[in-house]
Amino acid sequence: MKRILAIAGPVLGLVLGLAACGNPATPASPEAPAVQAGEAPAETGAAGSVNIYSARHYDSDKAMYATFEAETGIRVNVRESGAPELLETMRAEGSRSPADIIIASDAGALYRFQEAGFTQAITSEKLTAAIPAQLREKDGHWFGLTKRYRIIVYDPQVVSANEVTTYADLADPRLKGEVCVRSSTNIYNLSLMGEIIGHVGAEAAEEWARGVVANLARKPQGGDTAQIEAVAAGECAVALVNHYYWVRLANGSPEERLKTTKTLLSFPDQNGNGTHVNVVAAGVAANSPSRENAIRFLEFLATPQGQELLTAETKDIPVVAGSALPAGLEQVTGFKESDFPLSELGVHQAEAQAIFDRAGWN
Ligand code: FE
Repeated sequence: MKRILAIAGPVLGLVLGLAACGNPATPASPEAPAVQAGEAPAETGAAGSVNIYSARHYDSDKAMYATFEAETGIRVNVRESGAPELLETMRAEGSRSPADIIIASDAGALYRFQEAGFTQAITSEKLTAAIPAQLREKDGHWFGLTKRYRIIVYDPQVVSANEVTTYADLADPRLKGEVCVRSSTNIYNLSLMGEIIGHVGAEAAEEWARGVVANLARKPQGGDTAQIEAVAAGECAVALVNHYYWVRLANGSPEERLKTTKTLLSFPDQNGNGTHVNVVAAGVAANSPSRENAIRFLEFLATPQGQELLTAETKDIPVVAGSALPAGLEQVTGFKESDFPLSELGVHQAEAQAIFDRAGWN
């Protein structure tokens, strides 16, 4: 994963993925010229290029890049890797980093890039007009592009809907032995905990984490899909997941669909702060060689067309008014969302991890 690979013309080049969060990568195109990290990528034509460091791994992103190329003439080069690996890459590249854009799947992940000094503040009237304030960094270091909800999946044969109406319910002793969660090092859990700390303070947040740990059916393990599978298999009755994992299974193969027919969704905290929201977010890299192209790319993603390209396959939620809701999200609308400012999730990140560690949520 040490190359930037070009997507040139109508033929899409290889986008390598770790497949942590999407579909396996497609075979390499032998035509795709590789650009070594740290080298200035070749400029092709007057419009130049834009170098994207993305922690997303979706085939549909290739269509998104191709559409941007076709509409602007700006060549798109992509490096796909996990967010921690991209962070390390940028650390190694230093001020010679060719990155123009950083994309990651959690506001808390963008916070890490910002904290490391790898993003820069940009001003764009189009972006501030299109994206709600709580979904972007206040100085323009990053912008939330699509939303996701951290929700409860449960087995209605074991627990009733009114037993899982809040995040606090996950810590209620009546759910002893019934809760499945993934590791606390996962950024989705760190960000949820960041919001909980923001609402109730560190002490009450730790009490909650201890309550959840006391209810666990098994040691924290697997990704979000594995939590849904565990509920479907009867290993636990309740799990915490991002909505799109459930929606993708519900729209998947008959075998996958079967897992979701055994489960129901709860959107927590409807009578309180609303369900936790996070974002796929992007920012302009600190030493971006093609800053104007980078801003243009972000502005493209904040159009209804860009939003559709970002969400149709992933089942994320568009953030820009007038964008179409992807198919399959009928059960994921019409509830109260938290308006907690996502810039604050990162502020609580270190404390969130310390709380999880003390609580034994490993
Ligand atoms: Fe994900």
